[in-house]
Amino acid sequence: MTTHRTLYSQLPAIDKLLRDTSFCEVLRNFGHSQVVNTLRTMLETAREHIRTQEQLPDWNDDWAAQVQARLESGLRSALQPVFNLTGTVLHTNLGRALQSEAAIEAVTQVMRTPVTLEYDLDGAERGHRDKALASLLCELTGAEDACIVNNNAAAVLLMLAACASGEEVVVSRGELVEIGGAFRIPDVMRQAGCQLVEVGTTNRTHLKDYRQAAGENTALLMKVHTSNYQIAGFTKAVDEAELVELGNELNIPVVTDLGSGSLVDLSQWGLPEEPMPQQLIAAGVSLVSFSGDKLLGGPQAGIIVGKKELIARIQQHPLKRALRADKMTLAALEATLRLYQHPETLVERLPTLRLLTRDASEITDLAQRLLPAFEGKYGEQFTVCVEPCLSQIGSGSLPVDRLPSSALTFTPKDGRGTTLNTLVENLRDSSTPIIGRINDGRLWLDLRCLEDEAGFMESLNR
Ligand SMILES: *Cc1c(COP(=O)(O)O)cnc(C)c1O
Repeated sequence: MTTHRTLYSQLPAIDKLLRDTSFCEVLRNFGHSQVVNTLRTMLETAREHIRTQEQLPDWNDDWAAQVQARLESGLRSALQPVFNLTGTVLHTNLGRALQSEAAIEAVTQVMRTPVTLEYDLDGAERGHRDKALASLLCELTGAEDACIVNNNAAAVLLMLAACASGEEVVVSRGELVEIGGAFRIPDVMRQAGCQLVEVGTTNRTHLKDYRQAAGENTALLMKVHTSNYQIAGFTKAVDEAELVELGNELNIPVVTDLGSGSLVDLSQWGLPEEPMPQQLIAAGVSLVSFSGDKLLGGPQAGIIVGKKELIARIQQHPLKRALRADKMTLAALEATLRLYQHPETLVERLPTLRLLTRDASEITDLAQRLLPAFEGKYGEQFTVCVEPCLSQIGSGSLPVDRLPSSALTFTPKDGRGTTLNTLVENLRDSSTPIIGRINDGRLWLDLRCLEDEAGFMESLNR
């Protein structure tokens, strides 16, 4: 008891600490109230320490340094930069598409100054905010008009609410997908106030199924791109062109939720062929929606392109106001779309495409260069190798389509999962956390998305 009391009496008083010259700098950097709050927490910790361990905490001789360290660690942004070595290029949990330099510059610019977001320089009358981008999107997709919202989930919701609320929407049973999180087509239908009419079966849907289901109360025939899974075998789906023929005959618009919409043919770089919005527009689809931050490689956004009259209905719907994109998104999207006007330089300038088309041999060379550093650091506990692997596009692009790549693999010499987990934690604790993937008892660092080799080495060695 006596020792406790002696120890407690050695704890400093806050006002005395604050007057000490050692506190000048931390006070200047963080201000009085943050410093005092931190000191209060530290005093509690110190008292607890005395109670349980019967000694003073080891930082008792330098409170200023401890306060500084605690406040600095609290400065870490909630959105911390990491190295994405998961092998998934468009990783939703890591923020999907990296932005092009052009988009970054455009965003920086509009953040600093007032801009003509809804302001017409000719007539000083209020224009709508998607106007400038709409003409660019029309040029690129052949559509008549366009609308931009916060993400593609919002685009689908808005499209349905504006064009089919209180009415029926016909969808194939093979396309009632869950995209991830809470986005399931039947739920979105309900939220939009539409009645879902399911047709066909899981594996086969025919044109006659749509024809039989369409009636007086049918507002739309809808196609959903089943981007994140594939069924093989005895299958049949009706493509957009066929469905449009039926739609024209019945006078019912056809709409498509395309998900990951790429504006260029990816097969020219040996990547899997994805349907493009311009193809669907050409096939006569009335509305096509797709994401800004998937294969398009821009900011998070939902893009709807299509017929003028339907887009006008969408623009006027009250939900548009709730789901609209901000000026930063619009600026980044515009800059991204402008890169598509010059497709010859797209691979160089659009990070998503640059990473997806990166040559496996280049990635292997990079892995070989990094190998010695990892062997030196982890070679005692792990067998470190360079091995071929397969990257994924991610974000709902076909999981069965894989891109040949190269990885550093770490196999624990003691064969234990706990050893592997320690390594995972260790890499996550690097100054810029390194995120890999565990597969068959090994850690894989797929190097496809590593471009900053120097920064990576520095982070590893710190
Ligand atoms: C990804 C995806 C969505 C959701 O798009 P977000 O931009 O993530 O909101 C909707 N539909 C399909 C088919 C998708 O692939």
